[in-house]
Amino acid sequence: MRICLLCILLLSAPGFAAADAPGPNVIVIFCDDLGYGDLGCFGHPTIRTPRLDQMAREGQRWTQFYAAASVCTPSRAGLQTGRYPVRSGMCGSGYRVLFPDSKGGLPPKEITIGKMLQANGYATHAVGKWHLGHLPQFLPTSHGYDTYFGIPYSNDMDTAKDVPPWKEQFADPKSAYWNVPLMRGEKIVERPADQTTITDRYTQETIKHIRANRDRPFFIYLAHNLPHVPLFVSEPFEDVSRRGLYGDVIEEIDASTGRILDALREEGIAENTLVVFTSDNGPWHMYKVQGGSEGLLRDGKGSTWEGGMREPTVFWWPERIRPAVVMDIGSTLDLLPTIAAISGAKVPSDRTIDGVDLSGVLLRQKPSKRNDMIYYYGDEVFAVREGPYKAHYKTKTEFVGQKEPTAHDPPLLYNLEHDPSEKYNIASAHPEIVRQLTERKEAHEAGVKRVQNQLSLR
Ligand code: MG
Repeated sequence: MRICLLCILLLSAPGFAAADAPGPNVIVIFCDDLGYGDLGCFGHPTIRTPRLDQMAREGQRWTQFYAAASVCTPSRAGLQTGRYPVRSGMCGSGYRVLFPDSKGGLPPKEITIGKMLQANGYATHAVGKWHLGHLPQFLPTSHGYDTYFGIPYSNDMDTAKDVPPWKEQFADPKSAYWNVPLMRGEKIVERPADQTTITDRYTQETIKHIRANRDRPFFIYLAHNLPHVPLFVSEPFEDVSRRGLYGDVIEEIDASTGRILDALREEGIAENTLVVFTSDNGPWHMYKVQGGSEGLLRDGKGSTWEGGMREPTVFWWPERIRPAVVMDIGSTLDLLPTIAAISGAKVPSDRTIDGVDLSGVLLRQKPSKRNDMIYYYGDEVFAVREGPYKAHYKTKTEFVGQKEPTAHDPPLLYNLEHDPSEKYNIASAHPEIVRQLTERKEAHEAGVKRVQNQLSLR
């Protein structure tokens, strides 16, 4: 009798929403440095991605979906918080990402998707690359995730001692060349991490959580370390792709995604699970053929040209999402409010949230509430999009290794829907549109409160 009374008291307590509002499960699969043109369903001619292609046919393939930044750390901060990373201090003018000697990380007061859903009764699991701080107070377990298993930063960081010169390392990569830790919770369980099996082990960990939580709502954030260089694949995927090693890596990620969807179907919970597949930034051209492809877009990782931030994105939720190719604008910034809307969780109301709720597009064939995008380079606005138009105030083209940005006054203007490759500057024909975009830029900048730059802390 006492137990029953306790149950009633718990269930009626404020904040204990799980029992009366069991939302759908959510899995976010987040690749590292995957280009817009690297999947079969986004046009790659020699990489086979049958499982992702099928996922896209069964769900929604978004063609104008943006990461929050063009490099790893700020992009991840934007996804997790629904806020441009400048608001959390997770971007800056010096260091562009966190490194193994960094002392900073995502500030504890930030609310991640994990934290939001944990408070709503979800089981929350982070698997893979975190890159929002590797010190205990910044790890996933301090940011709303029940468990963590993964490499806490990029797979090329922390070069080991006595390794071959840089070029040779990448010509024939071995896990031992990079002294990256594999962590479970806050403990290092393997170092250097065996990267040849990392995609497979992340997949197994994800499937373990799916099976263990089949009877309660869960959120899994699966952030692959690959296809960020150095490239590694497990034995069954060696030399399978016509695209070479980079293609092998993508084909293993494709198969991994298929295994995860299969596990959801086997457990009978596919119809109650939203799966999102996307990436953190565009392809890394510095590594030439070991980097990916932006397809018909311009430039790649690190750049505010489209190839740096527009990502191949698929939403899947059988019986709920009506299959479509969505050409409206969306962003990883929108995942937090969208997941809040479908799960009944509360979007934080005490801070600026830049994301918008996309559930109307996913579930009700409504137009996207997002009509703009701000493109940051570090903590500076380089470009602004509104509707089909994008104005560049500064550019720095990573593909040609440009060292210093070029300022544009008047700004460059492109119609991204007519000209997705950003080839034809139309600024002189549309001064009124340039003025409107500049007003949008200035209004955004006026609304940003600068905080401590976490990336510069050493
Ligand atoms: Mg990346």
